[in-house]
Amino acid sequence: MALVNENYLKLNGRYLFSEIARKVDIYKTNHPKADLISMGIGDVTRPLAKSVIDAMHKAVDEMSISDTFRGYGPDQGYSFLIEKIIESDFEQRGIYLSKEEVFVSDGCKSDMGNIGDIIAHDNVVAVTDPVYPVYVDTNVMGGRSGFLNENGEWSNIVYIPCTAENNFIPSLPCKPVDIIYLCFPNNPTGTTLTINELKKWVDYALNTGALIFFDAAYEAFITEKEVPHSIYEIQGARQCAIEFRSFSKTAGFTGLRCGYTVIPKDVTAKTRSGERISLNALWNRRQTTKFNGVSYITQRAAEAVYSSEGRAQCFENIAYYLENASIVRKNLLQMGLTVFGGVNAPYIWFKTPKGIDSWTFFDRMLSETNVIGTPGVGFGPSGEGYVRLTAFGSRENTLKAMKRFQDWKL
Ligand code: PLP
Repeated sequence: MALVNENYLKLNGRYLFSEIARKVDIYKTNHPKADLISMGIGDVTRPLAKSVIDAMHKAVDEMSISDTFRGYGPDQGYSFLIEKIIESDFEQRGIYLSKEEVFVSDGCKSDMGNIGDIIAHDNVVAVTDPVYPVYVDTNVMGGRSGFLNENGEWSNIVYIPCTAENNFIPSLPCKPVDIIYLCFPNNPTGTTLTINELKKWVDYALNTGALIFFDAAYEAFITEKEVPHSIYEIQGARQCAIEFRSFSKTAGFTGLRCGYTVIPKDVTAKTRSGERISLNALWNRRQTTKFNGVSYITQRAAEAVYSSEGRAQCFENIAYYLENASIVRKNLLQMGLTVFGGVNAPYIWFKTPKGIDSWTFFDRMLSETNVIGTPGVGFGPSGEGYVRLTAFGSRENTLKAMKRFQDWKL
């Protein structure tokens, strides 16, 4: 008799965004004429940059000619892309990586989920709370979670609250942990850490033998000078951190799919007998066995993001979203709300007024303003009493949504 992985049965039947979609569908069925504005899911809306499109057209043509046709690509990605990544995203910040330390992938979510394959099932995992749900759910699937308690916390996962009370700066865990997920600029709060705050985590990992999984999916939105773009800006991070990057938000690739993961050769974890094993080698083994790579056409598209025109065109889109974020921030502040994020990130995180809980606020916002947000509690217990809005919509819809907020009798 085949047995299932029962860890999956522990998961909440619905992913947060499926639950939101379900509620929105019910609302639409009951109010077919409602002009709904989505500021919920973090998906881009601006079309791809012209340089990216041109690069793809060219790559498609190459695939039609026997001399330039490509079949299976190199395991870790094409050199033309890896070289650009190293040069532009790292060397310019004084970080030196070898080509074998970068793994091109179909995006950050897959890699952050799959990385669990190469670590033991009984590692203790720490997450900041609220958190991008993928880190928690993939550890539930991998058997590292224990059981869900009445507060919505998994018994074996260590939650590190990030709230207005601690200025969204996570404090070091109060019990030993093996794996730490950090995401900065943060989804959902839109907040960041300074070099010194991030250094605290790198030092902790070096001192305790823990690993940091650093999600830098929103790196391109950083506007403030003192905010680190990569964890490798911190000395010693090469020994303890894996960094995940994505072209999804940097260049609007959410539908195209490309990202990359950096695993320096110095990052190791131990066997039970104490032998140090290179995670770079293990990940390479995992990827070459289970991952099919990213299409040549897509990797050419990603390469085009680094051309001077491509960079300027992508930056224009990011500036557009950041302007939306600033409009949202300004309006919410004018309404007297307590607002965070939206300066180095496309997310605005605000406290609901009068202690209204996140889902009630979400429901009211949907029915009274027809604007769809994301209830903060969906990202973890410490998200209760907060709501996230995204700046990825059109300018027109952002302004329209804010006008409705201004007119809203809350
Ligand atoms: N990491 C964070 C923090 C995200 O918010 C998202 C998407 O919303 C991802 C990763 C997913 O990135 P990708 O599209 O590359 O899978």
